[in-house]
Amino acid sequence: MTIHASGRPAGYPTGIRGTVPHGALPAAAAAEATTVLGPAPTSPATATAVDSTANGGRSVALTFDDGPDPRDTRELLAVLRKHQVRAVFCLWGDHVEAHPEVVREIVRDGHELAGHSMHHDDMSDWEPERIRADLQQTNNAIAQVVPGVPVHWFRAPFGSWGRTPEVAASLGMQPLGWRLAVGDWDPPGTDELVRRVKEGVTPGAVVLLHDGGGDRSQTVAAVDRIIPELRAGGWHFDQPARRA
Ligand SMILES: [Zn+2]
Repeated sequence: MTIHASGRPAGYPTGIRGTVPHGALPAAAAAEATTVLGPAPTSPATATAVDSTANGGRSVALTFDDGPDPRDTRELLAVLRKHQVRAVFCLWGDHVEAHPEVVREIVRDGHELAGHSMHHDDMSDWEPERIRADLQQTNNAIAQVVPGVPVHWFRAPFGSWGRTPEVAASLGMQPLGWRLAVGDWDPPGTDELVRRVKEGVTPGAVVLLHDGGGDRSQTVAAVDRIIPELRAGGWHFDQPARRA
């Protein structure tokens, strides 16, 4: 079954953090908790979302949600490889199970992983126990594919954080926010995406883009232009600020 073609909303507001209005969401399947996470982080995660790089300045961190996708994620990986940029991939559990080989390629290229829930449900009114079960199920799905690879981050679907930050932190995952989103879920055209990123980027910004959940070919093409154009303007690419 191809989950990413199901037409579920997978968007975020442009340029801001926070929640986004959305229509009816599919009923959440009861999540099943099985085992726990991989290696424990060296220091506790906190419930405060990280949305910047460690050192600010003219640095920017690219993050990609809703994959893996067998076409667009692979093409994005080739672009990132060409430009030697490492990013964070926020993985949708159903897509991990559908395309495990793409997850292995993400890890092989040295990118970092984030959980992005099992079914891309809106968790804003979920109780912690239900959130915990879903996040563990997602991490278990990832661990089945890439055993021992840590999942240091969690990003809530739709930015509907609810009580997910505290649960993610209790599982060793740092909530991962963003400072810039550019509406690539529409999508508005490659030129427009390039313009929005170049005009919207601020020092140290975590940028939210998508490599799954729909046709993301415009995002991939935009990233291929954004990286060299930002570098020409003195920017460099970094990871979101990590806890020590
Ligand atoms: Zn998403």
